[in-house]
Amino acid sequence: MNRESLQQFQKMIDSHSRIVFFGGAGVSVASGIPDFRSADGLYNNRGVEFENYEPEYLLSRTCLYREPKVFYEFYRQKLDTRGVEPNVTHYKLAELERAGKMVGIVTQNIDGLHQRAGSERVFEIHGTTMRNYCHACGRVFPGDYIFKYFDGLTPESGPDAIIPRCDKCGGMVRPAVTLYEESLPEDAVRGAIDAIASADMMIIAGTSLVVYPAAGMVDYFHGDTIVLINKGVTSRDRYADLVIRDPMEDVFSEIVVR
Ligand SMILES: [Zn+2]
Repeated sequence: MNRESLQQFQKMIDSHSRIVFFGGAGVSVASGIPDFRSADGLYNNRGVEFENYEPEYLLSRTCLYREPKVFYEFYRQKLDTRGVEPNVTHYKLAELERAGKMVGIVTQNIDGLHQRAGSERVFEIHGTTMRNYCHACGRVFPGDYIFKYFDGLTPESGPDAIIPRCDKCGGMVRPAVTLYEESLPEDAVRGAIDAIASADMMIIAGTSLVVYPAAGMVDYFHGDTIVLINKGVTSRDRYADLVIRDPMEDVFSEIVVR
């Protein structure tokens, strides 16, 4: 752990009061959420040959509507975050918000862990698994609806039973997640841009800034201080006032909120 960088980071937090946090998959790694882009460890017990698919395809609109059984089998195995807990980064950011130092959290994650840690100003620009809706009638279903539906499946359930159904119209119930080939949710994007544009300090963490249009949103920042926390090099390193390569949870566990 680089103590000098840590002290510098602490000073920056102390001297700013409108901080925006822009986070990616790396934020949830310490909570044990695997990278969905890796198809490793998938079980093949419903006849789905995952190795024939690109991970991006498995989370695409085409897959959901053309091969829903494949989509939901992948979703069932990879995206169930019940039983996953927020980690020190989520909790420390919630504490900073309560201390009046945050203008918002912009997240590319769909796991809802920031809210569970207590943050309220969260902009989920790729949607969330914590909300579901019927694609036919629009009826909204609670966060655990799809996973509870999966829990009810038995070995005797037919192959079509994996597709969650609306109890009102029988339409397919889908997560409010932004899939590949879909546009980002407008209100989250607007809130995110407002937060970034009004911030005096931006912390970019756990993202290599390669997924567009999300990555381009950091260009709305006009404050004076950018901190980048990521284990690998990103395209924005040269714009940052401070680059930290240490594990995010080690960094945030040392930060004092005052
Ligand atoms: Zn319906």
